[in-house]
Amino acid sequence: MGCSERLSALEQVHAQIRVCPRCGLCKSRTNAVPGEGSIDADVMFVGEGPGAEEDRQGRPFCGASGKLLTRLLHGIGVDRADVFITSLVKCRPPGNRDPLPEEIAACHSYLVSQVRLIAPKVVCALGRLAAKSLIDQRIAISRDHGQERRIGDIVYVPMYHPAAALHRAEILGEIERDMEALRSVLTRMGIAGEQGR
Ligand code: URA
Repeated sequence: MGCSERLSALEQVHAQIRVCPRCGLCKSRTNAVPGEGSIDADVMFVGEGPGAEEDRQGRPFCGASGKLLTRLLHGIGVDRADVFITSLVKCRPPGNRDPLPEEIAACHSYLVSQVRLIAPKVVCALGRLAAKSLIDQRIAISRDHGQERRIGDIVYVPMYHPAAALHRAEILGEIERDMEALRSVLTRMGIAGEQGR
């Protein structure tokens, strides 16, 4: 599939997400948050679910944790516009509770379509739920964060979620180390960006 066909297929998936009725989260959302970034992204970030600001704007990681994510990416020479950012569930869980297993399951095929169309080489799972859902249910984020795992053609890197650093200062250093681990993966894989210069 060519680039323009992939882009229009991705836009169709995002149009479906914006009107999705598959789980109860559709009742309380203001906006669904399909995700954003480059169709050619080598790196995809997957969070858990939109927060209040994301629900208001319909854009992923545009609140406080998003500002931190953007700053952390700059720290390793990666521009936010060059990656693709999305979440396990595309609609905000009320009160920022964890998404339920049935909500993650209802949303899963959208994520599968995004991964198929964007074909990233590296997927960063942000937080415990994303790491468990995408990589392995047995992952313990406090033990396994920053450690890459290859599954098929994709290298997965579980990381602490940036929101965790907003509440616990000691986590910030851990996330910065996770980002350095990502920088090493990108350099080794020859993925373009300042990190390789
Ligand atoms: N956390 C997520 O997982 N996704 C967002 O879009 C914002 C915060």
